[in-house]
Amino acid sequence: MKRLASYVTGKWVEGDGSQRPLHNPTTEQAIAETSTSGIDFAAALSYARDRGGPALREMTFARRGELLRNLAKLIHSKRNELIELAIDNGGNTRSDAKFDIDGASATLAAHADLAEQLGDRKLLIDGDVIQVGRTARLAGQHIIAPRTGVAVHINAFNFPAWGLAEKAATALLAGMPVVSKPATATALVTHELVRAIVAENILPDGALSLVCGGAGDMLDHLGGQDVLAFTGSSITAATLRATAGVVSRSVHINVEADSLNAAVLAPDVSLTSETGQLFLRDVVRDMTQKAGQKCTAIRRVFVPESVAGEVAEALAEELATIGVGDPRADGVRVGPVATADQLRDVRAGIERLVGATEPVYGGDGGDVELIGVDGKGYFVGPVLRKTTAPRDAAAVHEHEVFGPVATLCVYSGDAGEAAELVQLGGGGLVASVYSDEREFYADIIPPLASYHGRIYMGSEKVAAQSPGPGTVLATLTHGGPGRAGGGEELGGTRGMAFYQQRTALQGDKGIIKRLFD
Ligand code: NAP
Repeated sequence: MKRLASYVTGKWVEGDGSQRPLHNPTTEQAIAETSTSGIDFAAALSYARDRGGPALREMTFARRGELLRNLAKLIHSKRNELIELAIDNGGNTRSDAKFDIDGASATLAAHADLAEQLGDRKLLIDGDVIQVGRTARLAGQHIIAPRTGVAVHINAFNFPAWGLAEKAATALLAGMPVVSKPATATALVTHELVRAIVAENILPDGALSLVCGGAGDMLDHLGGQDVLAFTGSSITAATLRATAGVVSRSVHINVEADSLNAAVLAPDVSLTSETGQLFLRDVVRDMTQKAGQKCTAIRRVFVPESVAGEVAEALAEELATIGVGDPRADGVRVGPVATADQLRDVRAGIERLVGATEPVYGGDGGDVELIGVDGKGYFVGPVLRKTTAPRDAAAVHEHEVFGPVATLCVYSGDAGEAAELVQLGGGGLVASVYSDEREFYADIIPPLASYHGRIYMGSEKVAAQSPGPGTVLATLTHGGPGRAGGGEELGGTRGMAFYQQRTALQGDKGIIKRLFD
């Protein structure tokens, strides 16, 4: 069986002791194994800080951008190999795999573009010179410098390529070396990607390390110049936030966690209109793409009472056309969920919804005739539920079912009521609103904005070019308050702020102004 290694202290290191298996979720066969037992994590972090950090900080933004451009090109050139691995280890359909892998290269390329704009500088200036004294001579100026530690990235199982790339792009551009830890269950794609990066010698020594398997005692060795960026469940996030070293040394931590993303259909929209069709397309795509294992997927669909029946019928009709089964088989658009544990969690989540809602599609368990499958695999078909009393259905708003599952929530058609109901989710990554009326947006955006990192506005004029709410764009921020973890990533220089220190200079205006000319 293939044994995966970690890339730390400038070399590939296999862990000893008992190995953790990685499975093919379609066949349930173990296809690789890995362990980090025996790895010296203190040395791994020091190596990144001492070798990768200085090499990156020595470079201008433009030079770091060239590295990112080369990474993007490399991933693109390895696209087919990576897609095959994503099908085997993630249960992705080809299209799901492309979403992850092309997302990775596009994010790196977007950061390479940003680097060109930042140019031949190593530090950023934040805002204008401010008079802070009695006369203009005593002035203040904020500057932004990279932190001198290491950026530890811990990622979720659902985006093994994009997860590494989106965090690494921002950190490397800011000037920080990265230690990336993918979720063990689907680490094959990340492992191959880093293997190619190392083989091509694209990055300076120590700039990128890979931990393939458990994190061991790594977090105990984080210091005050280090940062920890985590994507995964809110339960794991709570454990990491409470790690003694993280707390006592004020390690900066960014969390991207669960989210019960909402879609709100406004009463002005007819289902046959461009906007109505966009809404239906987005909901079905989000329920089924990557078998619903997307942090940004729509989980709650708020529909006005007047069209609730029509929406339920249209969605059920569309879901019935979607094949579920072996991701390599013809006609399959939904593969298995990634692991046996995920399948168990999704089934438990559906059961919770069953107690609070009525069925629209997929019954009480998502049982479906599978294509190309003989009794094995972690499969669950799409499940659409409905409630006419969303205020009383706590299960709908409080538990993220990380699979092809969503609930229709019927509301009166009033924007204020919809916003209140959406807020029951406790904060999310993205809310989408479908309307062609400015007034509806004006009423709903302020109360939704406080609870979300992004609001997607689906209307007739943008329908033809809209990627849907589930696609995270490198130029816009990603993250959300409350249940979603309280983090913020991407968004151009906004995401870089996590890897940098803002410092206020206070002194002679003449010296300050000439410092960075
Ligand atoms: P998870 O079980 O929390 O695992 C996430 C990562 O944390 C994995 O790499 C895991 O490593 C690691 N981990 C677990 N316990 C740890 C510990 N004590 N110390 C250090 N690392 C530890 O989450 P998941 O099942 O992979 O992902 C699903 C969740 O991620 C969903 O809830 C989804 O909403 C969320 N998600 C959020 C976003 C976002 O951007 N907001 C994106 C994607 C997913 P091992 O695999 O080795 O255990």
